[in-house]
Amino acid sequence: MTATVPDFGAIAKSLAFETKAFINGEFVSAASGKTFETINPATGKVITAIAEGDKEDANRAIRAARNAFESGAWSGMAPRDRKAALLRLAALVEKHQAELAVLESLDTGKPVLDAYNADIPDAIATLQWHAEAIDKIYDTISPTSSDIVSMVVREPIGVVGAVIPWNFPLAITAMKIGPVLAGGNSIVIKPAEQTPLTALKLARLAAEAGIPEGVINVVPGFGETAGQAIGRHADVDCLSFTGSTEVGGYFLKYAAESNLKRVILELGGKSPAIVMDDVDDLDPIVEQIAMGILFSQGENCSAGSRLLVHEAMKDRLLEAVIAHFKTWKVGDPFAADTKMGALIEEKHLDRVLGYIDAGRREGASVVLGGNQVLKETGGYFVEPTIFDNVRNDMKIAQEEIFGPVLSTITFKDVDEAVKIANDTKYGLAASLYTNDLHIAHKVSRKIRAGTVSVNCFSEGDQAVPFGGFKQSGFGGREKSLLAHDQYSQVKTIWMQLR
Ligand code: NAD
Repeated sequence: MTATVPDFGAIAKSLAFETKAFINGEFVSAASGKTFETINPATGKVITAIAEGDKEDANRAIRAARNAFESGAWSGMAPRDRKAALLRLAALVEKHQAELAVLESLDTGKPVLDAYNADIPDAIATLQWHAEAIDKIYDTISPTSSDIVSMVVREPIGVVGAVIPWNFPLAITAMKIGPVLAGGNSIVIKPAEQTPLTALKLARLAAEAGIPEGVINVVPGFGETAGQAIGRHADVDCLSFTGSTEVGGYFLKYAAESNLKRVILELGGKSPAIVMDDVDDLDPIVEQIAMGILFSQGENCSAGSRLLVHEAMKDRLLEAVIAHFKTWKVGDPFAADTKMGALIEEKHLDRVLGYIDAGRREGASVVLGGNQVLKETGGYFVEPTIFDNVRNDMKIAQEEIFGPVLSTITFKDVDEAVKIANDTKYGLAASLYTNDLHIAHKVSRKIRAGTVSVNCFSEGDQAVPFGGFKQSGFGGREKSLLAHDQYSQVKTIWMQLR
């Protein structure tokens, strides 16, 4: 958090948008000449028209990425120089932090301060972390007899396709670009159709940072056209996807029906926040529970959407949670006191409201919120919503709502808490609140999720792996050095000495 807050409104007025695809170092119109509109979710109004890339544009971008890879301009560059270029990109993102935050807020509907204080700094830290790793990774020599030298070397996988969701557009793009470029690969990015603006701006900054042409390409467009074309392309070596479990599954099919490209999927979740009966100070817990489900309007893959609370604690905790949720002001993403902005689009608003109806119909009780608000703005706002008396087999407890809706479920003992926590097809994250060291250790081992945070809601930082168990993920881990494994091949060189 910087000391002085920029004048985001003034920045918004003077913005120049990048609206074309970025292929082989140039901004170009779609081959078809078509465009699509990107909408501001807080007003329902058009921000600008964007080049609508489809199969032909994806093909061009993949060709450019392949040529760049084969040329060695990036893949063959000395690690130290690649590190310097990626650090220059991180520095440029930092220089444009306020502008990128404004673009992200306009495109996603999230509070500009969240974008400024969380999303963009996260993208910067991610690029820096992976850049710093570039010249610190060593290959190995394996134990052999004295007449053999066996080297195990890591090589870039080649051309990576990255298909991105709309909830953290720049942060997730950086999560792909960091390790992909660190490994010497080239990348073709397809941002979500709802949120293309920051990826295109990043492409501009990458060129300024001196990253060679063709190494980073951005093809804005729709999933079924541009996304599918990248997924099915025979010259893409690896496809890294973040988004819904349903669409993630399509990429496995695309790979099976094309070239068996490596597929990495970061998918949805239905993460529990478990509160044991030994906790005393509720204030910090309640704050974390709110962050878990209300931050980013609940449009967060690791959102703590199920509140699992010991039956002896329920009334006291729920009262405190309700009181705290009331302090989360929903409103104009550019207002300084706004904590929750708009949902991404009208279709998603209807989906979230549909889940709230389903919860009521199944017999759960709304104890806070439950409605669309600020209709007069033309935007897609929903107030913080809490359900009590939820059973874990209800739709609202099993399906990812991706909105600010918390389902409260009680348990009687630790074993039941673990059973309910694991009783979902997802396994992305979980939070556990307890003062008991034994419970903290034992329960965090028993929960089937990629990240378990204890006495906080957190995904950790750049240095730890992130990914899902069960239907929350497939094929690898983002962040940390494990992310580098995803975008490299391991080769054995076995030499007979004479
Ligand atoms: P989505 O799956 O609808 O879309 C994601 C991307 O896939 C978009 O770029 C979209 O254009 C593309 N796409 C859609 N249909 C396609 C198709 N048929 N072929 C190829 N590409 C296609 O997801 P979303 O609505 O953008 O994002 C929300 C989902 O993302 C949630 O389920 C959320 O949990 C998940 N998510 C997961 C993580 C994680 O790291 N695990 C992070 C953020 C979001």
